[in-house]
Amino acid sequence: MSESRLFEVIFKLGGEEAVKIARQLKKMGRATEDDITKATGVNLNEVRKILFKLRSFSLVSSESVQDKNSGWLIYYWMLQPDRLESLIRSQKKRVLEKLEEKLAYEKSHDFYRCVNGPCGKIAFEEAVESFFRCPKCGGPLEHFDNTAVLEVLEREIRKLKEEMERE
Ligand SMILES: [Zn+2]
Repeated sequence: MSESRLFEVIFKLGGEEAVKIARQLKKMGRATEDDITKATGVNLNEVRKILFKLRSFSLVSSESVQDKNSGWLIYYWMLQPDRLESLIRSQKKRVLEKLEEKLAYEKSHDFYRCVNGPCGKIAFEEAVESFFRCPKCGGPLEHFDNTAVLEVLEREIRKLKEEMERE
């Protein structure tokens, strides 16, 4: 798993500040929220918010250690880059399922669209209900050939499957 990929995902989840925090964790190995605040200049509340978010995706983990002098628990945070791979894989799987659902829907329906332009297409059953008039503007409906849509979906599914097999 490349490092740039890791930071790219972290950026998507929490923006520039999350990347700052993750870089700091990488540098320090493990760090407290205070350490991170001091080193990055990101305020403590924001640091916490971002850490909890990254933890919910298993990209960071925390452990508590009892301080010998004060007896207080100290929380340390660290990066967990190895979890990224499974995160990306499960996201791809979800996307694939959505695409396959959409493909099945497109394949099993006949579509109509409004001659007036961008009102969108509707399935045959709906078109019957509205007596082949556009539900949005009342214009007449014409048959819509979804072959191109099917081709795009099939291509995307193929690409994604190949990608997942390579990994
Ligand atoms: Zn219309």
